[in-house]
Order: sequence, then C-alpha cells, then structure tokens
Amino acid sequence: MDKAKRTAIIAGNWKMNKTPKEATALLNAIAPLVADADCEVIACVPYVDLAAAIEATEGTNIKIGAENCHWAESGAFTGEISTGMLKEIGVEYVVLGHSERRQYFGETDETVNKRTKAALAAGLKPIVCVGELLWERECNITEEVIARQIKLDLWDVTEEELKNVVIAYEPVWAIGTGKTATADQAEEVCAFIRAQLAKLYNQEAADAVTIQYGGSMNDGNADELLSKVNVDGGLIGGASLVAEKFAAIVKAASK
Ligand code: PEP
Repeated sequence: MDKAKRTAIIAGNWKMNKTPKEATALLNAIAPLVADADCEVIACVPYVDLAAAIEATEGTNIKIGAENCHWAESGAFTGEISTGMLKEIGVEYVVLGHSERRQYFGETDETVNKRTKAALAAGLKPIVCVGELLWERECNITEEVIARQIKLDLWDVTEEELKNVVIAYEPVWAIGTGKTATADQAEEVCAFIRAQLAKLYNQEAADAVTIQYGGSMNDGNADELLSKVNVDGGLIGGASLVAEKFAAIVKAASK
C-alpha cells in the first residue's frame, strides 16, 4: 500500500497543560486554522479538559483523545480513569505508553499492553508510543528495543483490532528537548516498525497502520519529516500548544 492510502494523523499531546477554559480557547483558535485539513486532526488533552474540549470541537474536524486510561472496567483504582468513562463522553483516541508515563509513572510494556487491549475492547483508538533512550541508541540497540516494545505492547492484539491502532515512534531523547531525529532517522525506525508489524501480522495489515513520528516536531521541520514514506503523521507536544504552529504542521501533513 502506498503512503497516500494510509490515514495521515496529526495529534497534539498537551501533557499537563491548559485548564478547561484555556483548552476551549486554544481549540477555538485552532479549529478555523485546520478546517480544510486533508488529514485527521486530534487533540489529546488532560482528563479534566476532555468535556470542555469535546464541546468546543463539536461540528469541527478535530477529534479528542485522552492521555491515558486504565485497563479495568471499574474498581479500587484511586485516581484512575476507565475506558468506559472516556467512551461515554465522546473521546475517540487515547495515548498509551508515552515515555513520560514510562519514565515517571512506572509504565511497563505489560501495562501498556493491558491498556491497549482495554482501549480497543471499548472502541477507543490507542496511539501506542514506542521509542529508545539516548543510551540505547548509542549502544546500537534501537531496533532491539523497538522490536520488543512492538511485540509486547501489541501482544494478543488481533489483526482486526490492529486496524484501530496508531503507532507513534518517539525517540525519548527527542521529546521536549528541541533535538529532532533527522528525517532519515525517523524514516529508518518507522520502516523498521512496519517490518515488525509485517512479521507479527502480515504485509497488508502492516501497510495499513498509521505510524507517526514524535519528538520536537514543529512548523519548521514537519515538511521534511512528513515527506518520508513511512512517516504518516506526527504526535506533537510543545508545538501543539500554539495554534499557528500546530496548524502549520497539519498543513504540512495535508500536502
Ligand atoms: C510528545 O509529548 O509526545 C512530544 C513529542 O513532545 P515534543 O513535541 O514537545 O517533543
């Protein structure tokens, strides 16, 4: 399948930024700038912003995602949010396994897998994040790390379910650091991810998966990164908080 047939997706990951009122204002600023987008546009926002974000984007082409979810349907998990809670208010996507969750909140491939399975079962579309640490890249084990994450994070995910999975390749050393992977580095790993998916499923299934790059993508480097055959979109942190910058990335993905 050629790249043009895959869904290009630009998703903002707001992290722990913006109150509900600020979220409404930012989405109101973004909406007219991306109205003509020829790609999917998503804003993944903090839990407490979700309701306001869904209301603010009604009638627009912006979809709303959460930044995490728990795998249990309900129960004694103080502070957690279930897939059913997200689904009921109209959330469509959920970021899972972000490196900040892995680094600061004890997320492992096993828990990413549980969350991914639960999200899919609830009809949410997971954006599953994988990526190597700087130390791992320097030790030349990027492919080993990525292969392990893909295999474990998608363990027991069926070929049918894979159609609703988005993969985000986010080299940890490039997130929030201003250091972007070169377009060739991004392409190399995104192509490797697709090859792993072909091994685990088959080529047709792998060719249909949207694989994003994330890590200091911005309005200045998006064109080059998104021109690569296996880079189907972006997961955008810092630049997603500035309407004009985010819209420029959406425009680059729409070419
Ligand atoms: C992210 O949070 O997923 C991310 C890629 O952040 P940034 O764009 O700020 O590097």
